[in-house]
Amino acid sequence: MVSPSFSFDPASLRADVRAFLDRRARGEGLLIDGQWHSAANTFATVDPATGIELGQIPAAGAAQVDTAVAAARAAQKGWAATVPAERARILWKIADLIEANIDELAELETLDQGKPLFVGRWAEIPGAAAQFRFFAGQAMAIEGSTIENSINYQPEGKQMRSWTVREAVGVVAAIVPWNSPLVLTAMKLAPALAAGCTVVLKPAEDTSLTAIRLGELMVEAGVPAGVINVITGLGGETGAALAAHPGVDKIAFTGSTATGRAVLDAAKTNFKRVTLELGGKSPSIVMPDADLSLAIPGVANAIYFNGGQVCIAGSRLYVHRSIHDQVVEGVAAYAKGLNVGHGLAPETQMGPVVSARHAERVEGFLQRAKGQGATMLTGGERFGDAGTFIQPTVVVDVRPDMEIVQEEVFGPVLVAQAFDDVEEVIAAANDSQYGLAASVWTEGFSNAHRMASDIKAGTVWINCHAMYDASLAIGGVKQSGWGRDSGRQALENYLEWKTVCAVV
Ligand code: NAD
Repeated sequence: MVSPSFSFDPASLRADVRAFLDRRARGEGLLIDGQWHSAANTFATVDPATGIELGQIPAAGAAQVDTAVAAARAAQKGWAATVPAERARILWKIADLIEANIDELAELETLDQGKPLFVGRWAEIPGAAAQFRFFAGQAMAIEGSTIENSINYQPEGKQMRSWTVREAVGVVAAIVPWNSPLVLTAMKLAPALAAGCTVVLKPAEDTSLTAIRLGELMVEAGVPAGVINVITGLGGETGAALAAHPGVDKIAFTGSTATGRAVLDAAKTNFKRVTLELGGKSPSIVMPDADLSLAIPGVANAIYFNGGQVCIAGSRLYVHRSIHDQVVEGVAAYAKGLNVGHGLAPETQMGPVVSARHAERVEGFLQRAKGQGATMLTGGERFGDAGTFIQPTVVVDVRPDMEIVQEEVFGPVLVAQAFDDVEEVIAAANDSQYGLAASVWTEGFSNAHRMASDIKAGTVWINCHAMYDASLAIGGVKQSGWGRDSGRQALENYLEWKTVCAVV
């Protein structure tokens, strides 16, 4: 583990990044009805690795939320009437522009969120472009059906025909978190626009920069005024005003389970459609017949990728007792060997957590776990002179009911436990309020199938973790949420069914 003391010189940033910060992080960061606006209040956005302020982001007030929703409403009918091929062309163009600006977007994401540059450059920003490409195709594949009905009341000589059509839900409030800002935003915007919805996007207050830059790229791609609006601001203010707004037809939310509940409450006033992508505490299960040359780095990467700030992070490790010590010590050695530092330093494999507030939250979990008798096999502390760095951590000596086993830490903290048989580990994996994802490491065909079927989760990976693609649905059961992002299933979130019955 290296010290996170990378000397960071703002003057060494890419010229396009500096130009963007000058243009949009000093005032006019709100995109409403195709125009850029400032707000009466602003808040600082900070590089979590250094604490250096990157700029001031506008905090949209209630009146600006109103104006953005009204603009989305005014634009919706026209956008839904735009032929699918034209919507597809624009979505494809957005993907092209994301790729053309990939280095700028990756550097902005690292500065704002802390993630190592390679995560944005090679995984998340290409993933965002892929969402727009995939849903460009889906825009041209929306279809209803004809239905043979049994209605027998039609006038003599007439026939009763019935069919369904798909219609856009309307105005969507897209509210997204800070852990993987651009790709999670794309997971909402691409299917919504493909379906003919218009959007008011509210990025997380810790990471607004790439959402604002995406707003610029969408205007450049030819998205008409009002079809996409970007309003930055604090969750409890701008986010709450948007979630409660009577002009919004649907909320597409990704974030914590606690905020998901608040969003659900706000939605009930006018029965907004709601999809919720929430928290997780996903198990990685290593069976005695696993290929450990894959499993050890695999389960380590499942938790330390993006500093564990991944909804689908493999944060609970269950290892068969016969190989427990070998695997857990292997993962601890991997953790100790990680280069932790500023995301822009080329050798960095893990960055800081996103904010001082979040670092305190993660530290709180670690302190309480220690107080309850858990042992930190490695890590367990905050470190570094500046920034919000947490050591990659492996926690052992835990009981299943402990907070550190049950609650989402959302940091580089892995909790390891031993098991003796398949029944026991399936029960342990399912002993969670969450059901987002799981991975099983085994060379055994039967166990792989059995566990894929019996583990209650939206996704089960076998001999891999966190493999996702624009074509694959992602989302959870239990308190991990409602509905799916990504994949063909996501388009359904943004479409209503209309039944037509006709006497002809
Ligand atoms: P958060 O719930 O604090 O915030 C998410 C968003 O909601 C932010 O934009 C925030 O400003 C906004 N918000 C906050 N209060 C609000 C309110 N009262 N009304 C409306 N909006 C409000 O979550 P976070 O800390 O930004 O993100 C981390 C969480 O997101 C973790 O729990 C993680 O598991 C979850 N997550 C889930 C998925 C998934 O696909 N299931 C993906 C990524 C992250």
